[in-house]
Amino acid sequence: MKPLRAILLLRISDDKSGEAAGVGRQDEDGRRLAERIGWTIGPDETHVIIENDTSAFKRRKIALPDGTTALRTVRPGFRRCLDMLATGAADGLLAYDLDRVARDPRDLEDLIDVVESSRPRIAVESVSGSLRLNNDGDVTMARVMVAVANKSSRDTARRVTRKHEELAAQGKTGGGGIRAYGYDQNGMTIREDEAEVIRWMAAEILDGQTLVGLANLLNERGVRPVKAGQWNSRSVWSVLTGPRIAGLRRFRGVVVGDAVWPAVLDRDTWDAVRAKISARATGHTNQLVRWLTGSLWCSLSGDLLTGMSVTKRAGAQYWCSTPRGGCGKITVTASHVEDLIGRRVVELLTNPDFVKRVLTITSKSSTDETRTQLAEDEKQLKELARMWATRRITLAEYTEARTIIEERIKNARAFALGSAPRVLRHLLEGDVQAKWDGLTPVDRREAVRAIIPDGFDVLPLDKGKPRRFDPDRIVPRLAERTHVK
Ligand SMILES: [Zn+2]
Repeated sequence: MKPLRAILLLRISDDKSGEAAGVGRQDEDGRRLAERIGWTIGPDETHVIIENDTSAFKRRKIALPDGTTALRTVRPGFRRCLDMLATGAADGLLAYDLDRVARDPRDLEDLIDVVESSRPRIAVESVSGSLRLNNDGDVTMARVMVAVANKSSRDTARRVTRKHEELAAQGKTGGGGIRAYGYDQNGMTIREDEAEVIRWMAAEILDGQTLVGLANLLNERGVRPVKAGQWNSRSVWSVLTGPRIAGLRRFRGVVVGDAVWPAVLDRDTWDAVRAKISARATGHTNQLVRWLTGSLWCSLSGDLLTGMSVTKRAGAQYWCSTPRGGCGKITVTASHVEDLIGRRVVELLTNPDFVKRVLTITSKSSTDETRTQLAEDEKQLKELARMWATRRITLAEYTEARTIIEERIKNARAFALGSAPRVLRHLLEGDVQAKWDGLTPVDRREAVRAIIPDGFDVLPLDKGKPRRFDPDRIVPRLAERTHVK
């Protein structure tokens, strides 16, 4: 249903930056847009409204449609629009730059009320295209944009203005740009075929697949991304790490809570996938081969043993490295000790009593508590954003509180969703030996650290024994044992 008596709302501004178009041009552009989308603007004398926005932030007590009064920025033109829309005198609103007209979050809320009060919704359009109210997703984005724009005009923070522009850019992508993988163009409906691909990608990553490997697999199987012809590590990364697929909303670069769209991956899986990807991205972990680094200790000096590659014939070694301050007296062949501890881990994980104990310790009580705290913190963060958007707290207060809570969330999340218990769960899903054999070095290290967090002492070579690997040299380390340096 195209509006037949739409309002054209123009704005006179004392915008110092001079970016605002003159009223004449706004009028011209507005009418051109109306023609293009098939809207009819009502009689000029009543339906072309010019808002004098030059005293933009002077606030005064005004009467609201429901009879109560409130302190508002005075925008008589905008108020008249709302009245006309509410009473049916007009059936659509076309503004030049609606995000500026409804700069006060409460003005926007009043507009949303009017728009949503009729079925179908009252149509709203703007020439700048930055503010839409067509669906719940639009409304959410509009609230964020107006909150940010509101701040940028009250404070002088350029930073915030830049964020505003970023958000506007994001809003455009969500609306008319390239759609998100896994979702329809509207961003609200899941495309089941692509969601299936996302879930498969996540499982592959958790199984140790790399981003490049995943891109290759997708290309081989003829799966296409939204626009490009081929997948690459970057596009795989961006689909899997963006909060959208977990049904989360990002606000000023931070996830603040549940989004209005449905999730493809549950929160735990998404967190684990990101943890896995970022673990790979940070430095050399991709190259990690010596997975016992961090678990082997020198029995003489109490230093951690580190990996060292020597001649081909001798193979890689762990040693008490003198360049790192160790004594240099303890050396053990890497393949031997890794085989031994690998066997030990598999043994332990096939022992039901041990499994029960280790799972209780690593994943239950403490994690549940953390999880509760985490949910509480996230709720609080969301509430804070809302308080700030409705001006109940200042930007400084909001920023400070946000920093504290974010730090707490980060810590709790790292604790609750560390990949170790997940690796254990993975190992215990089926044949432990087969699963262990398939693990990457990074995962093996996680598993060993989860099961035997204190690691092992490596004893000196027994001169009396022949020069082959002696398993008795590797003894579980006791946490309370102290070493003399
Ligand atoms: Zn040593």
